[in-house]
Amino acid sequence: MLKGGKITRREFIASGIAAVAVLTGALNFRVKKLLCRPPGAQTEKRFLSLCVRCNRCVEACPQRVIEPVLFGGLLELRTPWLNFRKSYCNFCHDAGGLKTPLPPQCVVVCPTAALGTLKLNPAFTLNKETGYSKEVRTFSIGLAKINTDFCPQHCDVCKKACPYFAIELDDNGYAFLTENRCNGCGACEFYCPEEYVSKTGEIMRAVTVVPNGARLDSV
Ligand code: SF4
Ligand code: SF4
Ligand code: SF4
Repeated sequence: MLKGGKITRREFIASGIAAVAVLTGALNFRVKKLLCRPPGAQTEKRFLSLCVRCNRCVEACPQRVIEPVLFGGLLELRTPWLNFRKSYCNFCHDAGGLKTPLPPQCVVVCPTAALGTLKLNPAFTLNKETGYSKEVRTFSIGLAKINTDFCPQHCDVCKKACPYFAIELDDNGYAFLTENRCNGCGACEFYCPEEYVSKTGEIMRAVTVVPNGARLDSV
């Protein structure tokens, strides 16, 4: 399926290489961490074969949260991921101003169906009382994971950052998540001031967004 303009010859070749790699499993060098993809991404295996590594989504993102993968494995090289240490996804609402919210620009410009699970429709509206429309709130990029071992008591930075009211403080003053309100936008991770080093040596924040489990098929 073609959207957002024609695919160039270079992109076509890149996509062919990726598709062969996915089908044959020939490239065993994989990115170890789980990557959150832009909204609308297909399941990981399908995404890797459909994405032509054109990086149009990277350029289109007004939040500058999408980056090309420049580390780890060959299979994922130059595919887009969401770096919540640098920014977060607001589904492009602020890009057009609150009165004229834009549809997710990454989905608009993607020339293939790589981001094709998010249907663009007029439902992308902002409700002053409930926040973003149900379609946006229930569309899932990922899920926040709060590691309370590293959350200071009474810290409410992530609670204040979350546009979807998914984080509250419990009676002891520790943050907890209401999972069905979280869409993995990454605002909590972006603003979280607490960092620690994981067992694998990775610098983590006390709240970290992991990809939507339904997207992670067995690549
Ligand atoms: S929906 Fe908009 S803000 Fe979110 S990743 Fe796509 S382009 Fe960026
Ligand atoms: S997701 Fe779409 S726009 Fe982004 S790099 Fe892949 S093919 Fe290009
Ligand atoms: S908990 Fe975090 S990732 Fe989930 S909706 Fe709120 S700010 Fe976004």
